[in-house]
Amino acid sequence: MDKLFDIIIIGGGPAGLTAAIYTSRAFLKTAVIAGNPPGGQLMLTTDVDNFPGFPDGIVGPDLISSFRVQAEKYETFFLDENTVKISGEPGNFVVTTDSGQTLQSKAVIVATGASAKWLNLESEQRLRGKGVSACATCDGFFFKGQTIAVVGAGDAAMEEATFLTRFANKVLVLVRGTKETMRASKIMRQRAFDNPRIEFLFNTEVSEVLGDTVVAGLRVKDNLTGEEKTLDNVTGLFVAIGHKPNTDFLKDFVELDHVGYVKITDNTRTSKEGVFVAGDVSDFRYRQAVTAAGFGCMAALDAEKYLSGHVG
Ligand code: NDP
Repeated sequence: MDKLFDIIIIGGGPAGLTAAIYTSRAFLKTAVIAGNPPGGQLMLTTDVDNFPGFPDGIVGPDLISSFRVQAEKYETFFLDENTVKISGEPGNFVVTTDSGQTLQSKAVIVATGASAKWLNLESEQRLRGKGVSACATCDGFFFKGQTIAVVGAGDAAMEEATFLTRFANKVLVLVRGTKETMRASKIMRQRAFDNPRIEFLFNTEVSEVLGDTVVAGLRVKDNLTGEEKTLDNVTGLFVAIGHKPNTDFLKDFVELDHVGYVKITDNTRTSKEGVFVAGDVSDFRYRQAVTAAGFGCMAALDAEKYLSGHVG
């Protein structure tokens, strides 16, 4: 394999794959280091109803597979491994994967995404995509008229809970701390408190998600008294306890914000010349497949323009 590329795209979700479609179609020799397993958060999503162009919806893995086929059509090279290191200088970057392979390129697009934090209960992991979700925008629609629960006490949990009342009859917000220790901003907290469809349970932790094939209740524990009870009418659980950007390998290479998201200096440029960014690894606000794809397109166009001074 020739390991010298015009551009290496790190990440195989909608941002990285859209960037690859654009760069490879622009005749830039493109490699995608897609991760292992490849595909990002959409691989854990069932029905995607809000990606334009699919009026009947599409399941997450099929959407990723279509992106990838489209990139391969223009001869993008794929490596389904995790990136552990990036080094080098503008015009000559070196990317190392977990199997020890090294690839070189003139420019890089970082599109490694972010991972939702989970409670890490066996039952929660087993029922992901079957009533357990970390994205209300993606999955709220499926809970029309039902009783669901949101875990978390930050702005995201407030936003998710408020959004979910459009669909659910009742949303229980499970907070492990107290009303006073909640991390959410005053305004978002108040909006949730004022919503008649939202009920807060404080000092409450989930000990088990019930159900064999779909969510059929929750076991929760009062962390002050140790008392356990079953919420058997709950059919969905939204975990909103934060996200972690996948940037461990980038720490000393480009500038990150205090949480670890890649800082943008100008359009899709990072603090390192020749290194561009796209998708949830930099965007903690929108976090949608379609916004990530658009972001990937923007990074590709910026990288193409940058490379026009280096290629040929
Ligand atoms: P935060 O880190 O702000 O909050 C995470 C919450 O999850 C905390 O309340 C924490 O509780 C709770 N939590 C963590 N682990 C567990 C656990 N194992 N079990 C139960 N609860 C747990 O994350 P967010 O995603 O809410 O927000 C991230 C950033 O994005 C913030 O800066 C936020 O302001 C911003 N944001 C802004 C929005 C807006 O302005 N519209 C919308 C969404 C996010 P504890 O306090 O007990 O540790």
